[in-house]
Amino acid sequence: MRTRAAVAYGPEGRVVVETVELAPPGPRDVLIEMKAAGICHSDLSFLTGERTGVDYPLVLGHEGAGVVLACGAEVTGVAPGDHVIPVGVPECGGCPACLSTRTNLCDEYFAPGDQRPFRLGDRAFKGFCELGTFAEHIVVRETRVAKIRPDAPLDVVCCLGCAGATGLGAALYTARVEAGSSVVVFGLGGIGLNVVEGARLAGARLIVGVDSNPSKREAAQRAGVHQFVDPRAIADLPGHLRELTGGGADYSFECVGSQRVLRDAVECTRPGWGTTVTIGVLPGDQEIALRPRALLEGRRLMGSYLGNVKTRSQLPGLVDLYMEGRISLDSLISHRIGLDDINRGFELLASGTATRTVIGF
Ligand SMILES: [Zn+2]
Ligand SMILES: [Zn+2]
Repeated sequence: MRTRAAVAYGPEGRVVVETVELAPPGPRDVLIEMKAAGICHSDLSFLTGERTGVDYPLVLGHEGAGVVLACGAEVTGVAPGDHVIPVGVPECGGCPACLSTRTNLCDEYFAPGDQRPFRLGDRAFKGFCELGTFAEHIVVRETRVAKIRPDAPLDVVCCLGCAGATGLGAALYTARVEAGSSVVVFGLGGIGLNVVEGARLAGARLIVGVDSNPSKREAAQRAGVHQFVDPRAIADLPGHLRELTGGGADYSFECVGSQRVLRDAVECTRPGWGTTVTIGVLPGDQEIALRPRALLEGRRLMGSYLGNVKTRSQLPGLVDLYMEGRISLDSLISHRIGLDDINRGFELLASGTATRTVIGF
């Protein structure tokens, strides 16, 4: 079939929206009609030259929601008409990672194969994360399709596929914050606010939000921040945070992507059990510098990919949280555009104007 897709041809700062040929679903594939898709920094990084060795052309987009149109003969988990969130991290259900409760990183994620469902002339190409959600239709493996309840608004819950899962999951599935804990969140953008919501849901006693932009204060407090700290006003930030939390935070979350902030995030936690989760992506050529004794004193540093949320079995539960009114994804979404305006969406993201821009199809 033919469909319209946003194609990146190189790090040229923009994508081209054009009509492409889409292969029919293979035996284990699902054809999805996209209804909404969110634009993420990872998509933007393909247009700015931050990534090397990219297999262009590429259909961007790895966050979204849609409706199943057709399934291959071996597909058992979804059927035409189902509402779904396509996900960048698969869940095959059978590999050691899927059988473990410790990680969401299915073995298939590291060996995605070479599926090229999009075609233009004689050139076949991939979708980012084996998805390419900036297209009116996509064909993806069943292992990358999370079935969700039919009454959830697709143009809101689409943001759970990356930003929402990354933030909520970091608190709920990576750190596993306990009731009564103290939590410090560095960086109160879209991801940070979702970490705050996750910590609040977990029953954290004290949530401190750190951001050098005072305009974030109001949204932070709505999400659940009890104390807002502007780091520019404080000489010894880790010391101040240890004092605020009565000896050091039980958990801290780095949502900025900065060496210096990560160091502060570790130093502000309590010796003995303080746990820091790193979410912000540091530039690939940077290394992490920590004071060795900070870890020796019993602190922990954890990575978190997509919030450690198992995509097919646990992501639908996050949709339920939204439908029960326990999390407010609406505040994540700042702009709405059509596919033809996608380059404006990238500009809004690059300039810091937008938290989440959602494309409606
Ligand atoms: Zn993303
Ligand atoms: Zn697996």
